[in-house]
Amino acid sequence: MKNDSHPTADVRRVACCVVGGGPAGVVLAYMLARQGVSVVLLEAHEDFDRDFRGDTLHPSALELMDELGLAERLHKFRHTKIHTGTVMTEDGPVTLADFRRLKTRFPYIMMLPQKDFLAFVVEEAKRYKDFQLTMEARVEELIEEDGVVRGVRYEQGGVWHEVRADLTVAADGRGSRVRHLGGFEQVKTSPPMDVLWFRVPRREGDPEGGVGYFGAGQGIVMLDRGEQWQCAYLILKGSYGQLRAAGLDELKKRIVAGIPQFAERFEHLKEWKQVSMLSVESSRVKTWHKPGLLLIGDAAHVMSPVGGVGINYAIQDAVVAANTLVEPLRAGRVTESDLRKVQRAREWPTRLIQFIQTTLQKRLIAAALKLKRAFRIPPALRLLLRIPFVRDLPARVIGFGFRRVHVKLRPGPEAGA
Ligand SMILES: Cc1cc2nc3c(=O)[nH]c(=O)nc-3n(C[C@H](O)[C@H](O)[C@H](O)COP(=O)(O)OP(=O)(O)OC[C@H]3O[C@@H](n4cnc5c(N)ncnc54)[C@H](O)[C@@H]3O)c2cc1C
Repeated sequence: MKNDSHPTADVRRVACCVVGGGPAGVVLAYMLARQGVSVVLLEAHEDFDRDFRGDTLHPSALELMDELGLAERLHKFRHTKIHTGTVMTEDGPVTLADFRRLKTRFPYIMMLPQKDFLAFVVEEAKRYKDFQLTMEARVEELIEEDGVVRGVRYEQGGVWHEVRADLTVAADGRGSRVRHLGGFEQVKTSPPMDVLWFRVPRREGDPEGGVGYFGAGQGIVMLDRGEQWQCAYLILKGSYGQLRAAGLDELKKRIVAGIPQFAERFEHLKEWKQVSMLSVESSRVKTWHKPGLLLIGDAAHVMSPVGGVGINYAIQDAVVAANTLVEPLRAGRVTESDLRKVQRAREWPTRLIQFIQTTLQKRLIAAALKLKRAFRIPPALRLLLRIPFVRDLPARVIGFGFRRVHVKLRPGPEAGA
């Protein structure tokens, strides 16, 4: 790690430096600030307005927002609710996840533009004097002294700045620069698919909730966004170049072959710039920390979009990190044992969900994309899905993850400031 490569214009000192203003970073920074822990949040972009980051908030994330006293105001933003996840098969629709059966105040997935969610949490954090936000701050270097990470250097508009902190948290997502700088080893799996992401109009009488169509070489998941469908069209990994060369009309033809009832909707796709190709990745680091540095969210475990659980897991990581680290941060002494506790609480739920995502991707999704005919649910699985415990399992796992997390901190002295 470099220690002195760029002269810096200034040095800031805080208890915690959070790198990355995604769901993990904003929730952690908010929670620390409301406990009176000085925190700076560094975000590389100038705003939170980036599309295609996933716009879902699952029941457990909503419960956590509720425990933080934010759920009610969050629901004032324009949103839609997804109550069911249904797959259309040759034998008709099969509901694979029914969130209405979950025992929670929030038995649905809230579809809320992620930019609204992030900006909302940041606005709430700004009420606390211990919160600082710096946008357009691209972290490029770690400061390491005597084997301990003491902070970061970032570049903003061609000027370098330094933040010194008792703890640096990498929440900078799937391509984490901090993970790379810290030399963390990644264990990768190879998802067999990529995703084309776009929106088409939704009309009255259309199905509700989340709907998946698989088979006949197609895989498309459509999420109800009110007047629009957010579509995730699955393609075999590495096939994008070929598809792009074949042209947009070919893409539309293929989609419509699978779901002819929606043919007219896809006429709204007129140019490739309406379609984003998102490479699906999945990985985890073996150790989430080193002295003075902790990785959370996608920086620690890159999540596949299967089940749309990445945001949930990122928020849960942030809450566990805040629960565990507030006291050591207040005392000015965060040990590796404190950081290990965060990994211990979050690693197994993450590994379990990644195992399930990998299995589904390989066994079901890749197989469905190669099928010549429409997708059918095997009769044995149909029978299993009649057993209430099994029937409710997918909704529980998607909705809550494998370990429910709670906020264990009371609002600090600054609450309501
Ligand atoms: C195609 C696709 C679709 C998905 N759909 C969903 C979905 O519907 N629902 C869902 O729950 N999950 C979904 N996911 C997964 C989800 O996007 C991630 O798991 C989640 O965003 C992780 O949150 P995070 O806070 O860890 O990181 P991110 O959300 O990636 O946030 C990281 C932040 O760090 C910033 N940053 C990066 N580098 C630096 C730097 N050097 N300095 C400062 N800032 C930096 C970035 O600008 C960004 O704001 C999807 C993933 C893919 C690939």
